[in-house]
Formats: sequence, structure tokens, C-alpha cells
Amino acid sequence: MPEQTPHQTPHIVIIGCGFGGLEAAKAFKGKAVRVSLIDRTNHHLFQPLLYQVATAGLAAPLISAPIRHLFRSQDNVTTLLGEVRSIDAMNKRLEFVQPSSGVPHALAFDHLIVAAGASHSYFGNDAWEAHAPGLKTLQDAFDIRRKILMAFEAAEAQDDTAQREALLTFVVIGAGPTGVEMAGTLAEIARHTLPGEFRRINPASAKVILVEGGARVLQAMPLDLSEKALKQLVKLGVDVRLNAKVTQIDAQGIQVDTLPTPTDLEAKTASSPQTVSARSYQIHSKTIIWAAGVAASALGKQLASSTGCELDRAGRVKVLPDLSLPQVPSISVIGDMASLMRDVDGKSVPVPGVSPAAKQMGRCAAANILRRIQGQSTLAFHYADYGNLATIGRNAAVVDLATPLGALRFSGKLAWLFWLFAHIYFLIGFRNRFVVLADWTNAYLSFSRNARVVAEAVSPESS
Ligand SMILES: Cc1cc2nc3c(=O)[nH]c(=O)nc-3n(C[C@H](O)[C@H](O)[C@H](O)COP(=O)(O)OP(=O)(O)OC[C@H]3O[C@@H](n4cnc5c(N)ncnc54)[C@H](O)[C@@H]3O)c2cc1C
Repeated sequence: MPEQTPHQTPHIVIIGCGFGGLEAAKAFKGKAVRVSLIDRTNHHLFQPLLYQVATAGLAAPLISAPIRHLFRSQDNVTTLLGEVRSIDAMNKRLEFVQPSSGVPHALAFDHLIVAAGASHSYFGNDAWEAHAPGLKTLQDAFDIRRKILMAFEAAEAQDDTAQREALLTFVVIGAGPTGVEMAGTLAEIARHTLPGEFRRINPASAKVILVEGGARVLQAMPLDLSEKALKQLVKLGVDVRLNAKVTQIDAQGIQVDTLPTPTDLEAKTASSPQTVSARSYQIHSKTIIWAAGVAASALGKQLASSTGCELDRAGRVKVLPDLSLPQVPSISVIGDMASLMRDVDGKSVPVPGVSPAAKQMGRCAAANILRRIQGQSTLAFHYADYGNLATIGRNAAVVDLATPLGALRFSGKLAWLFWLFAHIYFLIGFRNRFVVLADWTNAYLSFSRNARVVAEAVSPESS
């Protein structure tokens, strides 16, 4: 691509067309600016329903949309497919590489919005990724779906009892929203979808184990909803192991240390002065899914080295209240990459890494760039928190809504219906909303999951 020539119209570059980048680009509609929107994939992805693709409930096009198509009628947006590799903040240039050709290109900007999101963190144990993939992209969802379906196929052909048990043991690590919905849905597949289709194994005998280092599931939820979520998981047939720290993952399974709970410690101290030690055990499994940690895009480190900005422990960029970088007003960082504190009942807490926060930040960063162009002062970002939802499985969810009259909390079937309609409402495109609703109604009535065709059957031993 040729170097950009000097131009009168301000050029805004947005890295990433996830929730934050998409909303920022839309906010420039009809404004006298040129926008270049770069993403390493050709689609915007609705991550909250990614687990449905990973568990064969929905087909990929229903939760994603081609970026180029989304901006077909917004003339001031140019869509570029490419992975940004470096940002030169001082000279206002960046370099990106086109995935198809591998050729690097330079792009100059007047203002930059960095919205490249987050990826998995294995807390320094990167070798675990080969055995325990995480769920972040469509490719991750395809890989996990193949692993799950192939484990049942391999178990049907396996004569060795121990091997068959390992194939029919599914481990999910991390009981945040993604881990909880993955575990709940896996239990549903084993208990309701697959029985009747196999002759040598009973899919309903499959074990689904959810391993969590903390003392409760859904730690971001209030305690009562967390306890209700645990009950619903157990009812669905999930074996939940709390206070369980994973110390090793390999091709055979995982090693777990069960941490003593405060009650264990009290009981032990009363009966003997010896210290209470962790109990260590192994779980043999061929399908392990990682849902335990996230780290901000590596572009955060790039920015830190080129601008001196600070990062938090998860690699998120500490931004000013108006979402720009200290000393570098031409660059804003938003969404899962941004670290910003807010005041809640006198306590300073981080703005959460959720899609509403990313969307609101996208709109705020775009508005502030337009204000800067017009010589006006920028405005501070205020997060409007509407609450928290998490689904667990069929008829099972928890909802914590922030209303003007206070928190509204409920769980069970009503919460599940609320979660379902909220997610359909926020999906992009009328066709997608309609088809997802039809697919879910069919799945609800028939217990079926229709997206089970796998193009290439790779053995779970080699994946
Ligand atoms: C499985 C899962 C379930 C979730 N469920 C929920 C939920 O139920 N509710 C909720 O509110 N939130 C949920 N979240 C969190 C929510 O999706 C994120 O908070 C939100 O996507 C953050 O938006 P973002 O714009 O910062 O990043 P993203 O939406 O992740 O977008 C980042 C974009 O940047 C692109 N990109 C990355 N690096 C580069 C690069 N170097 N060059 C070019 N492009 C790049 C990516 O391809 C991507 O399109 C979930 C997340 C996951 C992974």
C-alpha cells in the first residue's frame, strides 16, 4: 500500500473491530474525518455467544458479520484486513501485516484508537495452551468443538476402560461466566443431546468437571447469585471443584492442589497445631478447556515502550479519564485493553472487561477526538453499569440488574429467558436474530444441537 499523502481531512485509525472499535467507527458517521479500521480478521465477532459455536449449538455466521459489509454505507470508513505489529507513537505511524501476503504496510494517523481486546493468559505456563485451549476467536471455537465431538467418537471405538474414561472426562478450568456456560452446556450435551446416538458408550455417563481456584463460582456476582449458580450447575450434572488450584496440565490430564478452606484451617488448628497441607490429585482427561485468565493484547506493551505509559498486572494500559494516554493525547485505548478505575459506593474499582464497557468507551473516545479536532476540551468517561448476566445451561441463569430502585436479582428459568432475549437483541443483523431465535426454540424443544458437522476428523490424541 502506498504511503499516505498529506491530507486536510483528519485521519483516524482504529485498531480492532470488536465491540469497542465497531462502536467508535460508527460514531464517526457523517463527520468530516477519514477513518481506517484495521482488524486481523475480516469479521466482527459477538463473543458472548462464542461458547454456542464451541458446543455445536450455533453456526459461526450467526454470531459474526463481515466488517466490510457492516460499513458498506459509511463512506468515510476504509476497512483494512491486517495485523498491527508496531505503533510509532511519536511519529504517528503504525505498521501492519496483511495475513494473505505477509507483506508489511505503513499507515500514518492523526488520531489513533487502540481497541485490540485481550487474549488468554496461562499465568506463565504457556506450554499448557497446547493441551487446554481457551475460547476467544472463531478458530478457538472450531478447535474446541472438534475436540469435544471427537472425544465422544474416540470413546465409542475405544476398548480400554481407563482410556475410554479419560475420553469421557471433560474438564473446564475457571468458573467465571465462560467456564460456567461451557461446563453447563457440556453437561447438557452429554445428558440430553447425544444419548441414543451411540451404541458402545453411554454419553450420559461422561463426567464434566469444573475446576476453580477461588471459593465460589461467578466471583463477580453477589454471593447469593453465586450460590444459586452453583446449585444450578450441580443440578445439570456438573462436578464443581472449588478451592482447587491447577498445578500441571499435559496430554494425560491435569494435576490439582485442593487448597484448605478457612473452615478446614479452623478445625485443624483446634485439633492439632500442625499446618494444614494441600491435597494433590490428578484428573485424567483428553478434553481440557481453559477459561481461567485473560491478558490484554500485546499492543499494550508496544505502547508502553514507545510512550512510557503504565500497564496494570493484566497488561492493560492505564488511561486518563478521557481514555487518552498520558502525554500522548492523539492516542486513546479502549475496551479490554484499557485500565481505568471508577468509584462505586466510595470504593475504587476497575471498569469491567465486558462488552457494554467497550461499546461505551468506543463512543466516548470518538466523541473526544471530534472535540479535539474542534479545539474543545475532552470529557471524562463514565461507565453506565446496567448489571450482570450469566447463563449456566438450559433453564438456568443468574441476573443482577442495576435499576433506579436498586439491584434486581433473580435466577432460574426466568433469568435464562431474560438472558436469551437480551443476547438476541444485541446480536448484529435482523436475519441473525431471527435464525438464532428459531434455532434455540428448536434446540429447546428437541434437545438437539445442529452445528455438529466437523470437516476434518482429527483424533483427540493428536489434537
Ligand atoms: C467467550 C467469551 C464470552 C464473553 N461473554 C460476555 C458476556 O456474556 N457479556 C459481556 O458483556 N462480555 C462478555 N465477554 C467479554 C467481551 O466480549 C469483551 O469485553 C469485549 O469483546 C471487549 O471488546 P474490545 O473491543 O475491547 O475487544 P474485542 O471485542 O475482543 O475486539 C478486539 C478486536 O481486535 C482485533 N485485533 C486484536 N489484535 C489485533 C491486531 N494486532 N491487529 C489488528 N486487529 C487486532 C481482533 O480480531 C478483534 O476483532 C466475553 C468474552 C469472551 C471471550
